Amino acid sequence: MSRMQANSDVILIGAGIMSATLGSLLKELAPEWNIKVFEKLSGPGEESSNEWNNAGTGHSALCELNYTKEKSDGSIDISKAIAINEQFQLSRQFWSYLVNSGLISNPQNFIRPIPHMSFVEGEKNTAFLKKRFKALSANPLFQGMEFSDKPEKLREWVPLIMDGRSANEPLAATKINAGTDVNFGALTRLLFDHLKRENVSVNYKQRVKAIKRTSSGAWQVTVQNLENGKNENHLAKFVFIGGGGGSLPLLQKTGIPESKHIGGFPVSGLFMVCKNPEVIARHHAKVYGKAKIGAPPMSVPHLDTRYIDGQKALLFGPFAGFSPKFLKAGSNFDLFSSVKPNNVLTMLSAGIKERALTKYLVQQVMLSNEKRMEALREFIPNARTKDWEIVVAGQRVQVIKDTTAHGKGTLQFGTEVVTASDGSVAALLGASPGASTAVYVMLDVLRRCFPQQIEAWQPKIKAMIPSYGVSLAENPALFDKIHRATTRTLGLR
Ligand SMILES: Cc1cc2nc3c(=O)[nH]c(=O)nc-3n(C[C@H](O)[C@H](O)[C@H](O)COP(=O)(O)OP(=O)(O)OC[C@H]3O[C@@H](n4cnc5c(N)ncnc54)[C@H](O)[C@@H]3O)c2cc1C
Repeated sequence: MSRMQANSDVILIGAGIMSATLGSLLKELAPEWNIKVFEKLSGPGEESSNEWNNAGTGHSALCELNYTKEKSDGSIDISKAIAINEQFQLSRQFWSYLVNSGLISNPQNFIRPIPHMSFVEGEKNTAFLKKRFKALSANPLFQGMEFSDKPEKLREWVPLIMDGRSANEPLAATKINAGTDVNFGALTRLLFDHLKRENVSVNYKQRVKAIKRTSSGAWQVTVQNLENGKNENHLAKFVFIGGGGGSLPLLQKTGIPESKHIGGFPVSGLFMVCKNPEVIARHHAKVYGKAKIGAPPMSVPHLDTRYIDGQKALLFGPFAGFSPKFLKAGSNFDLFSSVKPNNVLTMLSAGIKERALTKYLVQQVMLSNEKRMEALREFIPNARTKDWEIVVAGQRVQVIKDTTAHGKGTLQFGTEVVTASDGSVAALLGASPGASTAVYVMLDVLRRCFPQQIEAWQPKIKAMIPSYGVSLAENPALFDKIHRATTRTLGLR
């Protein structure tokens, strides 16, 4: 028998960066609201948001080549890069607001400046990078970007990558010092500490088992206490499903029409971590390369300087792989259990369409350590096997849905917010560009789920996030002002 608990205004499922961000926004906008959080693990930020489970890139399209496609006429489409950069600026502003208000402190514990670089080999790629550089550097958001195809300059920028290369290879790179490394695990923990201080009820080792609508229109969330096995029912007017990879099964439990005909495809990840302090010390940048043909966009290889537990670290990857689990701490039955009569055709169509991706993932799973070292040697020709070890990263569940443009069972690589038509429940699916855009995505949740309040909230949102609703790319003076202010507050000089 489940015990019934008192009503709350909001229930947040999952203690990752998304729930942390939504909870923090709501605490500023509606401080009187009663918020409860349920997380099945023993602490916040232990799944994808954990520092070891993602790459920690503050994605702002400064170095990721997949955000700037070459059009058929040879020109470069930078619209996606602009959109992603603008989204990251919203995150910087909200984090700065929290720091300036004394709600979180010591930003160097979660964000550090680090040059973002793109690095390519071969004439064709060099020509592409040069065109990309010209298109981006003309835009205020990408000011300060440099391009070089001169070996001596590249040696100065990335000595570790240049060691052991012949002078005749066509190589090129761009570098911009405005990049960041973000420890999303540390940030999630800071935000949950803040929420607890604001009297949010944060409950760990509590697994959400069921979500159903009551006759009054409220949502009943059934939560199992994993320590004593007992179930409790909690009522709320609004539920946010921020379960990361676990969001799809929870969304399916709501039974809302918007949850139908959606499937999920889990892609796992591995990083290689450098154990040699001398090698770590010789590199200082996040360097993104070009994806291999057939590789999904999230497995673009990159060599990253990271700051974890206050220490400099060096990671390479991610290598993609397949596991039927939707969460790192999930079950091998996750994928199978997510197939329902309403999405089986969608899932089967994706299986047929995505044969190249399946082949790629199978190849990645079969890679031996030495094959992974070969991939690393494309970045660091002199890399030694004994200096590197493997860590298992987080799971990403890519959304599969039917789209007008591409038909049934189309794999999506972005983030999808699914909301009930009355806005009483929202779920976040997908994982890219991910944690960097948490503020943008949660502002979208507020806009879609709280249409009655959003107008009254606008002045406060603008006070916290001055560029809200404004294009920074079209307002260079505002961008300059905001960028300088957030750089100062977050200690990114
Ligand atoms: C390999 C990899 C590299 C990445 N690199 C980057 C990057 O460089 N930059 C970037 O911005 N993003 C990156 N991302 C994406 C980013 O990590 C995610 O978008 C982000 O962490 C998702 O946050 P979340 O809060 O939605 O999910 P999570 O952090 O996974 O949190 C979800 C929480 O919900 C809990 N939960 C699930 N089901 C239940 C349930 N039934 N009951 C109670 N609790 C539940 C889980 O235990 C978990 O704690 C990467 C991801 C991966 C996997």
